[in-house]
Amino acid sequence: MTASSLETTLPARPTTAALLVRGLTGACGACGKRRGLRRRWFTMVEHCPACGFRFEREPGHFIGAVGMSTIVTFGLLAVTLGVGFAVTAPDIPVVALTGVGLAISLVVPVVIHPLARTLWVAVDLAMHPLEPGEAVDPRVRLAEEGPTQQG
Ligand SMILES: [Zn+2]
Repeated sequence: MTASSLETTLPARPTTAALLVRGLTGACGACGKRRGLRRRWFTMVEHCPACGFRFEREPGHFIGAVGMSTIVTFGLLAVTLGVGFAVTAPDIPVVALTGVGLAISLVVPVVIHPLARTLWVAVDLAMHPLEPGEAVDPRVRLAEEGPTQQG
């Protein structure tokens, strides 16, 4: 099979809502597939195994995922502390609320890390749609890169 015999067209452009759903559910923003996007909890594969989209579109791309994680964590922290103050005032349990706040600050970024990455990929795709050559069937990409050197 040669590279020219494979389909290399771009996937259909999803709506922004569809992109956000894909990101929030841990799917590839370009094609919507979920399987095989992570090696470990903190590590994504370089390319989508289904469509070949390279997730880190440029160096430092995933700093946006840190931003997503920070926004979610601080939002949850603000809501939790606000409700805690409102419900318990005037006898606010400072130690308990501090403990809850610390737990949120330490646990939430770790738990949402994979979704923060796929969400950022989706947000970035909504702002900067796929360009020709960005999502290429992995078989085509491997054929263009040529045989790997072994031994
Ligand atoms: Zn994909």
